[in-house]
Amino acid sequence: MRTIPKSSDAALRARGLRLTGPRRVILEVLRGTESHPTAERVYRFVRRRLPRVSLGTVYRNLRLLVAEGLAAEIPGPHARFDANMDAHHHFTCVRCGRVVDVAGPLAEPHAEVLRVRIAARTGLAITHHRIEFFGRCPQCRSTKSRQRRTRHSP
Ligand SMILES: [Zn+2]
Ligand SMILES: [Zn+2]
Repeated sequence: MRTIPKSSDAALRARGLRLTGPRRVILEVLRGTESHPTAERVYRFVRRRLPRVSLGTVYRNLRLLVAEGLAAEIPGPHARFDANMDAHHHFTCVRCGRVVDVAGPLAEPHAEVLRVRIAARTGLAITHHRIEFFGRCPQCRSTKSRQRRTRHSP
């Protein structure tokens, strides 16, 4: 369940950011989707409303929104962006690349044990960690079972 965010304008103004057209539209695009779009995909959406915006502008503003805590970056070969700032995990489908939100539990006792053990063994000061899930989404699972049925049928 997502919390209803403040209006994008109010959120930007609260952080003293200028309300440039691209910045506001980028935040609205991000808040209007749960698909965790890449910068290129955000760019394509933003261009529908601001045909002259450049990819560089989109990148710059995405980075700024992340720095200001208004969006999160999901690292990977193609970084994805998320305006859902509630604590949550992600599931990536290894077949179609879809990224979906997965709710908690977020406080994992095992992770805390692991953190203490790693810190003691290595001297690393661990500030946070991330849990990611990978596998096949329901659509890809059903595609696969259909293919299997087809292949094995006489
Ligand atoms: Zn999939
Ligand atoms: Zn997410």
